[in-house]
Amino acid sequence: MSRNAESTAFRSALEVVRGVEPRVADAIAAELADQRESLKLIASENYASPATLLAMGNWFSDKYAEGTVGRRFYAGCQNVDTVEALAAEHARELFGASHAYVQPHSGIDANLVAFWAVLADRVESPALRRAQARQVNDLTEADWFALRRELGNQRMLGMSLDAGGHLTHGFRPNISGKMFDQRSYGTDPATGLIDYDRVAEAAREFKPLILVAGYSAYPRKVNFRIMREIADSVGATFMVDMAHFAGLVAGKVFTGDFDPVPHAHIVTTTTHKSLRGPRGGMVLCGPELADQVDRGCPMVLGGPLPHVMAAKAVALAEARRPDFADYAQRIVDNAQALADGLLRRGATLVTGGTDNHLVLIDVSGYGLTGRQAEQALLDSGIVTNRNSVPQDPNGAWYTSGIRIGTPALTTRGLGAAEMDATAELIHTVLSQTTPGTGPDGAPSKAKYVLDPAVAESVGKQAADLLTPFPLYPAVDLG
Ligand SMILES: *Cc1c(COP(=O)(O)O)cnc(C)c1O
Repeated sequence: MSRNAESTAFRSALEVVRGVEPRVADAIAAELADQRESLKLIASENYASPATLLAMGNWFSDKYAEGTVGRRFYAGCQNVDTVEALAAEHARELFGASHAYVQPHSGIDANLVAFWAVLADRVESPALRRAQARQVNDLTEADWFALRRELGNQRMLGMSLDAGGHLTHGFRPNISGKMFDQRSYGTDPATGLIDYDRVAEAAREFKPLILVAGYSAYPRKVNFRIMREIADSVGATFMVDMAHFAGLVAGKVFTGDFDPVPHAHIVTTTTHKSLRGPRGGMVLCGPELADQVDRGCPMVLGGPLPHVMAAKAVALAEARRPDFADYAQRIVDNAQALADGLLRRGATLVTGGTDNHLVLIDVSGYGLTGRQAEQALLDSGIVTNRNSVPQDPNGAWYTSGIRIGTPALTTRGLGAAEMDATAELIHTVLSQTTPGTGPDGAPSKAKYVLDPAVAESVGKQAADLLTPFPLYPAVDLG
């Protein structure tokens, strides 16, 4: 495909948008410029391919397509059927799953679909049967009370937030924390690793309906075979949320015990993180849960987004190509190079390293909170996010950690040498930043002092690092 075509496509699209609301066109162009200039180490972000991005901007957005392929509540869905079936087929082939549901709009939505599917499948609820036989909004008040009584207070066991678990695994800021009676497992304080004996013990005591594995800030592999054995031993449904590491599963870096698909009853994911697709979600499962999963819309999801399903089909087709496996391996190689570079310079890393795409720096070793470190790095042109570390003394707002990840920079083509240089820049900023004081002279968890000359010099070096690796090299907006 000609590089010229990509340039022409994005330029023309902006020209059309500019004709209606120029400020939107300007913001879109500015976003590309900003992304091109920043050293993006946000572990959950990536850069989707031009083909994936372009597949989203079209008239599929105008279609209603509630229901599933071949069984729609709306007429005229034959082309939506084509792209949804393609996305699902690519997902099944890529992950070796028997069923794929590609409608969820995001990772949170994919988890809600999975929770409802498991509740509907596992909990004996006459009110739910009535709801499914009719339209949900036909339920009487009494039905709703019964539904809450019958489905509420089921138990979920997931990874604790400060050990790297996700809000949607039964924590209060998310509806899952209100739907479920939740308990969590943490990591071993000495090693930072999941202690499977402790997970098994918690499962025996708590007897969860759902055992959840998956994380957004745990820098190691999880043994899904052992987790499945634990789930089986207490009759729990084993769910894996691979939102962060789906790209490593797709690219066959995580295989055997570390590939969740053969071990879990149900797997959820986002499509926009290491998988490098459009912003969205997906559910994979075996035949037992397939019917319930397919009820996701309208049970918990709004109408599907056919334009995004088209883009999912494109991105999943890309992930099936051999070069994606190479990309996935480079993500991990880069994370390890970054971790080694930081360790050599004296940084403290949670678990002492990484075997996936992310590294968690415990910045208390630099005398900083996560918030101070995040802002000082941002001043220096390095985009990261603060994150709790296990048993974090600074809580979830200020935190003591910085989470960095390599999927995005790896997409740009940066390699081990640049990762070492990045480690040097991060170490420079963190070791030159000192905590500031509040108005009353007391130590502040937010304020910090960093010589602007250091920030400027690091910013310049970060920009220089990126120069040989242009983002969307074929796209010239003129
Ligand atoms: C990112 C993430 C989600 C949420 O995905 P959204 O698309 O932002 O809704 C869910 N679970 C895990 C483990 C994640 O990392």
